[in-house]
Amino acid sequence: MNPAKKGRGPRARVARGSARKSIPYARQTIEKDDIAAVVEVLRSDWLTTGPKVPAFEKAVAQFTGAPYAVAVTNGTAALHGAMFAAGIGPGDEVIVPAMTFAASANAVVFQGGTPIFADVDPDTLLLDPAQAEAKITPRTKAIISVDYAGQPCDYDRLEPLAREHGLLLIADAAHALGGEYKGRRVGSLADLTTLSFHPVKQITTGEGGMVTTARPEFAEAIERFRNHGITSDHRSRAERGTWFYEMVELGYNYRITDMQCALGLSQLKKLPRWIARRRAIARRYDRAFASLDTIHPLGVSPDVKHAYHLYVVRLALELLKGDRATAYSMLREKGIHVNVHYIPVHLHPFYRKRFGTGPGLCPVAEQAYEQILSIPMYASLSDGEVDRVIEAMEEVLQALAA
Ligand SMILES: *Cc1c(COP(=O)(O)O)cnc(C)c1O
Repeated sequence: MNPAKKGRGPRARVARGSARKSIPYARQTIEKDDIAAVVEVLRSDWLTTGPKVPAFEKAVAQFTGAPYAVAVTNGTAALHGAMFAAGIGPGDEVIVPAMTFAASANAVVFQGGTPIFADVDPDTLLLDPAQAEAKITPRTKAIISVDYAGQPCDYDRLEPLAREHGLLLIADAAHALGGEYKGRRVGSLADLTTLSFHPVKQITTGEGGMVTTARPEFAEAIERFRNHGITSDHRSRAERGTWFYEMVELGYNYRITDMQCALGLSQLKKLPRWIARRRAIARRYDRAFASLDTIHPLGVSPDVKHAYHLYVVRLALELLKGDRATAYSMLREKGIHVNVHYIPVHLHPFYRKRFGTGPGLCPVAEQAYEQILSIPMYASLSDGEVDRVIEAMEEVLQALAA
């Protein structure tokens, strides 16, 4: 026996497993039946444009209460498709909250439009309807509401605002599948809603996205857009026994595969259970942090059911010796891999150069950015791990107390 291998038996493995494994801020949950669902497709005739695509679309439409759903390759393609369906083009302005992932604004630029950054509410970091209203000009065509962290925006104020000015309301709900606003499901709260199925989101297809809408002309436009601007797909032609098709406008290949949709269908069944788990974790964090004056979880409206893609806290830097970067590194050293969502989009070099944005444009988002941390939040996070996160947070805050 090789002596170097001694001690690597089952006992050593257990010891390693219970050693301080690092905890990510987010991760996917994949169960046995998810794997079986994908394998089944691999053995079938259709790897793409097959039956799993409309089945997944129908299931998401049913879940969200939206009449139509169109699946695409990722959440960014979903945003691009939504901008296309909304008819955004050169000269058009679209209002985008500063506190979001760059893709929310990039999709406007893909279509030649101009993103106009609006500031967020200091308590929730959601688009502030008054700030959005202040940015409306005769060139404004749409408002993108980002359900940041998984909390639906204030749709009772955004909807009438959009209607009054003849604008489309487009929800970037990449964070919020499974959330609700006044009993209405995310996916049916705006003219167009985009979803992402990236592994850090509530359910995953590896990469994947979807647009939901109540307007059939929008759904049809995005179906063409994801397939080169062609009016029919390979399977429908195969079924009709014809090769003929026409490309009527410029589109892309944003088609999602049947393997991905099978995974999505399997994952969607678990969504209510997983959202319940995310909410239970949030309650545990809420209770632990309620007594600390150095840390403030974001505000949650009584009107919403929060989907908790992220659990974001703000550090009371005026009471601490170090800055957010110090807290971030100290937590990482303890194996707690927190993250920051987001660097305000208007501060990115691309936006500064192309659109002349910069510091001072959205002061609430800019100040929040200095203070925020996203701490671990995902359905398979155990109570023991949640306690480890809380303990590490308490230790770090104590060490940094001024
Ligand atoms: C994840 C995300 C996207 C993009 O989704 P992908 O599937 O990664 O392309 C867009 N907007 C927001 C707010 C996101 O968090």
